[in-house]
Amino acid sequence: MTILVLNAGSSSLKYQLFKFSGDSYNVLSKGTVERIAIGDSLITHKGKGGAEIKITGNIDSHTEALKKVFEALCDKEYGVIKNVGEISAFGHRILHGAEDFGSSVILTEENLEKCRKNIELGPLHMPANLSCVEACKQLISSTPNVGVFDTAFHSTMSKTAYMYAIPYEYYTDYKIRKYGFHGTSHRYVSGEAAAYLDNAESKIITCHLGNGSSIAAVKGGKVVDTSMGLTPLEGLAMGTRSGDIDPAVIEFIMQKTDKSISEILNILNKKSGVLGISGISSDFRDVTTAAEAGNERAELGLAMFAYRVRKYIGSYLAALNGADAIVFTGGIGENSVKMRERIISGLDGLGIEFDAEKNQSVKRNAVSEINKTASRIKILVIPTDEELVIARETYELVKTK
Ligand code: ADP
Repeated sequence: MTILVLNAGSSSLKYQLFKFSGDSYNVLSKGTVERIAIGDSLITHKGKGGAEIKITGNIDSHTEALKKVFEALCDKEYGVIKNVGEISAFGHRILHGAEDFGSSVILTEENLEKCRKNIELGPLHMPANLSCVEACKQLISSTPNVGVFDTAFHSTMSKTAYMYAIPYEYYTDYKIRKYGFHGTSHRYVSGEAAAYLDNAESKIITCHLGNGSSIAAVKGGKVVDTSMGLTPLEGLAMGTRSGDIDPAVIEFIMQKTDKSISEILNILNKKSGVLGISGISSDFRDVTTAAEAGNERAELGLAMFAYRVRKYIGSYLAALNGADAIVFTGGIGENSVKMRERIISGLDGLGIEFDAEKNQSVKRNAVSEINKTASRIKILVIPTDEELVIARETYELVKTK
């Protein structure tokens, strides 16, 4: 069975084509469409034999982008399938499932209508996610579409964990509560960690550290708490997001600068975090280079990022009453030797004994242990694979159809 995984952003579309037979799978092709509706669009496509092809031109919509992806997948020279009829299902990453979706679903018209009602909870991502589903339905109406929600894995949180301490009516009237994001990633790496520990009941703290960053506390495969909230703005300081701040800061900035609430929220989402503190970049590689060259604000940005992650690890150790493993994943968690060290060294008092040498040589495609052998709590680096989770979920939902 062939499954096309689609992850649509406002101006981008990432795709991956999986072939499943039984429980095993392989990736036939993958790629990215960038700059949709911006001009000078670019498709980077990995086709037959892994060769990378760049296709340029102007792509004005997700429907246009999808047509080009189909052409690339079926191309005589570098394509991997003969025609799009070979695709059994589309698996879509959908940002927000709100309280409607605690698991993946086939996107029937009824389910899509529920998704449309949740656009207000994810105004930056949901329109793109849903227009990609519409485009699939328009181009190949007979192929099923499955929605895999970023929030779904967190739906096991207790009310104690997900409620905000504000008047209760805001929850009943407007569904204002913590939902959490990066669910497919937390799910994947916590599952891999539990398999590695050979204990399905393990208590695991998963740190997804990338452009957006979040932490989850997972026990027996169920999320107990997570750092992102109603939107992805809550929690850790990130590349461009402030994470937790005193909400009174917003009114204070408004009074001082005459900015509107939406302007300030835009600043908290796009101009804060490590970018806002360093004034250099949201890319941790650039900020690390600047810090090493002596830039104090770059150093402060990185130190603040690490400190916030440590604080959340501490609070989740309390929420879980200890842990069996702490997992690093995401672009920073998987690749930044120095950031992992900043975050997790010097926690011996909590039973977390970091091994600086093992930290230097983590494996690319496997679970790596970076703790001392005697450490009570294991520290693991696990490459995430959100596309694989989406593909598996899609496969499970359509295989019996
Ligand atoms: P996204 O959330 O968009 O999927 P990623 O998980 O790919 O993002 O993470 C991107 C972040 O990872 C960037 O800030 C990038 O600088 C950082 N990163 C990638 N490789 C390294 C590295 N070797 N050292 C430090 N940071 C890295």
